[in-house]
Amino acid sequence: MKYLELVKLYQKLEKISGKLEKTDIIAEFLKNTPEDDLEKVILLLSGRVFPVWSDKELGIANQLMIKAISKAFGKSNENVTKAFNKIGDLGIVAEEMAKGRTQSILIKKQLLVENVFTGLQKIAEQSGAGSMERKLNLIIELIAQAKPEEAKYIVRTALEELRVGVAEGLIRDAIAKAFNVDVDLVEKAWFITQDYGKVAKIAKEKGENGLKNIKITLGNPIYVLLGEKAPSLKDALESYEKTAIEIKYDGARVQIHKKGNEIYLYTRRLENITKQFPDLIELARECIKAKAAIVEGEVIAIDKKTEKPLPFQLLSQRIKRKYDIEKMVKEIPIQVNIFDIIYLNGKDTFNIKFSERRKMLEKIIRIKPGKFQLAEQLITHDLKEAEKFYENALKNGQEGVMVKNLDAFYVPGRTVAGGWLKVKPTLENLDLVIVGASWGTGKRAGWLGSYILACRDPDTGKFLECGMLGTGIKEKKTSPEDFTMEEMTKLLKPYIESEKGNEVKIKPKIVIEVAYEEIQRSPAYSSGFALRFPRFVRLRSPEKGPEEADTIERIKHIYEIQKGGREKEVEK
Ligand code: AMP
Repeated sequence: MKYLELVKLYQKLEKISGKLEKTDIIAEFLKNTPEDDLEKVILLLSGRVFPVWSDKELGIANQLMIKAISKAFGKSNENVTKAFNKIGDLGIVAEEMAKGRTQSILIKKQLLVENVFTGLQKIAEQSGAGSMERKLNLIIELIAQAKPEEAKYIVRTALEELRVGVAEGLIRDAIAKAFNVDVDLVEKAWFITQDYGKVAKIAKEKGENGLKNIKITLGNPIYVLLGEKAPSLKDALESYEKTAIEIKYDGARVQIHKKGNEIYLYTRRLENITKQFPDLIELARECIKAKAAIVEGEVIAIDKKTEKPLPFQLLSQRIKRKYDIEKMVKEIPIQVNIFDIIYLNGKDTFNIKFSERRKMLEKIIRIKPGKFQLAEQLITHDLKEAEKFYENALKNGQEGVMVKNLDAFYVPGRTVAGGWLKVKPTLENLDLVIVGASWGTGKRAGWLGSYILACRDPDTGKFLECGMLGTGIKEKKTSPEDFTMEEMTKLLKPYIESEKGNEVKIKPKIVIEVAYEEIQRSPAYSSGFALRFPRFVRLRSPEKGPEEADTIERIKHIYEIQKGGREKEVEK
């Protein structure tokens, strides 16, 4: 298939916003896509060249792309940069520059989907010394032979910013429509494969039966079962007839695949973290007594001496770290608490009740206390007993508990059917002041984002930074209550104090209400504290002035409650 055909589809998709219309157009396109190109087209439609869970990434920054465009089309770096600053989209910049090419090098060759796809994959595969130079040459090679409109989308795909508005749900619906199969079956198949390319191919070749019989492939992550928040422990217990209560460890979820001696590790968001955890690999080899299995657990960082749980940031350093891995292994040891099983020796466990799955785990896990163990569990339906368990968990620095339905099946996704309810203390929202932000690039050009939050120091009247907020303020208004980045930019602009690069300092004027998961100590902020996962709740200005914002004392107080006095909060 010619790449130009896909480009025409992109162009159509960019012009329309209706979901149904988009689905129809994509479905029609998929119907006419040759079988060999189907997987590639599906990935390219969602702006990728690897499935979501692959550890390969394109890793191309704007600066490298600017260089590539300037070389491919014989322009100066300054010219391309200038155009980028004006337009805010390197795809369009490349298109414009390609249009300006002289006649003598007009393109004769037809680019195929295959050429662009493998070309981009090749870019991602470059690593080590000189890889930037090689990436640069590969991009130049691709876009130099492209027509202007092709160059636009190649550049956007390479930057992982396709922006034609094709979310995963649309692809799911389009596959169902194109190959006349049930949409729920498409979704289930995707839960198991995490790869719509593969799902489309099976839907086309084998129809609904093929989808029903789709098997787990060891090494490919599965979309996981997620929990819902319960208003209280009592509510959670009353939701199910038979309940188990487990410690909710405060770490990162890990999906462990064991295939003989090979181990693969994925996070909850299906990032591949196999390379970052050689210690976990060793533990999994030793402690999972099965030829083939997928088990799930929570990894936490533990203190080298006391073996007590450490804050999540330390573990997140290990997740992010791509080099000096062995050093990290020594500095930040881990503990794994296994809580579920998805697959054992050739069969998935989707139709097995949780009580039975736990028994399977008890059989196949060789426990290494403090290192690799089963999540601590109490089977009870008694509120008093459950409360005791909960309070103990909090006292020991854990996040809360999970209440699980012993009769529930493993149902991937955030569904009630999966039978997990989480119970943890809720912390009150804070009113904080915005004192900084960054100018966005690309689609967000012209908007301020990544807002720096600050609390008030009543003694000095100064504002102390305590976190950065990127969630809750929308790009687009989808309901009247939404507050957009554009609106926030308008509010903040008059108070800009100074700018350095794209970082902006802002006079403390605008107050917003912020929700968050937790408060942590952090030397990175002048208050010494950082909010974990802050999200925008609502605007408090102009009713609330900065002099009424929450104080550093309040933050300290909540931090203390969280650490030790959690029992008090539990009573509420
Ligand atoms: P949340 O992240 O607040 O939605 O809570 C769900 C997460 O809690 C899961 O994805 C796991 O990462 C984590 N977790 C910790 N301990 C357990 C446990 N015993 N059972 C299930 N999930 C757990």
